[in-house]
Amino acid sequence: MIDNGYLFSKDDKRIFINTSLGCQGDCAYCYLPKLGYTKRNKYNRVSAERIIKMIDENDVLINENTLITLGCFSECWDDYNKLETLKLIKYFLEKGNQVQLSTKKKIFISEIEEIFPLIEYYGQLIIYVSVATISKHDSLEKNTENIDKRLETFYISKVPVVLYIKPVIQNVTIKDLELYKEYIKYYNIKDVVVGSLFKNNISSESVPFLKENILFYNPVSDEDVIFSELSKICNVYRRSTEVVNYYRRKKLL
Ligand code: SF4
Repeated sequence: MIDNGYLFSKDDKRIFINTSLGCQGDCAYCYLPKLGYTKRNKYNRVSAERIIKMIDENDVLINENTLITLGCFSECWDDYNKLETLKLIKYFLEKGNQVQLSTKKKIFISEIEEIFPLIEYYGQLIIYVSVATISKHDSLEKNTENIDKRLETFYISKVPVVLYIKPVIQNVTIKDLELYKEYIKYYNIKDVVVGSLFKNNISSESVPFLKENILFYNPVSDEDVIFSELSKICNVYRRSTEVVNYYRRKKLL
């Protein structure tokens, strides 16, 4: 087991990796301040090579079925982290692992096309574009990419790009339901994750990327409405791992 922020792993099912700790996105609902991670520049970035060394030195359990999740404690596609993130993606794709990342940045096709030849099957790399609100972006996600620009990541077709409506903010996210539907139709989005806010309030499920029970899923009733409505036009999931498993199963067919 390793749990130093940059790496978290408790078994060979999944490894969480961050090349830095903290983020400058300044989202009102972000859980990072609850963990002591605030503005990223207080923390050091570590290289992809260092992360790989940490995995080796700590005998982290890993095999080709281990899911690699990038960027729970950072914006893995900002200018500060992007190059290290790319190196990690390449490394793990070559090892045969499934890799997922979520971002509020636009990913240009030109930034990732060099890794396309490394992808063995559709779904080995999955990108989640995080959009918790559209109309309240300016006030709730002050220092993040503009929504229209962010959504242009959906022009990438070589890998699944998933709309990540997470966290659903009660009475806020749902106000944009029709806008979400328009974007889903416009970009022909196939997969959507509708997910919960992480808070300190104890619930029946704690987050998967911490050893201590200090952050929990706090579902709200709007999630069910959004889930039900969007299920009429695309595939909707509660967890990113359901998307991962869907594409893993498809590969085996
Ligand atoms: S972009 Fe993500 S990690 Fe950064 S502040 Fe916003 S919610 Fe937190």
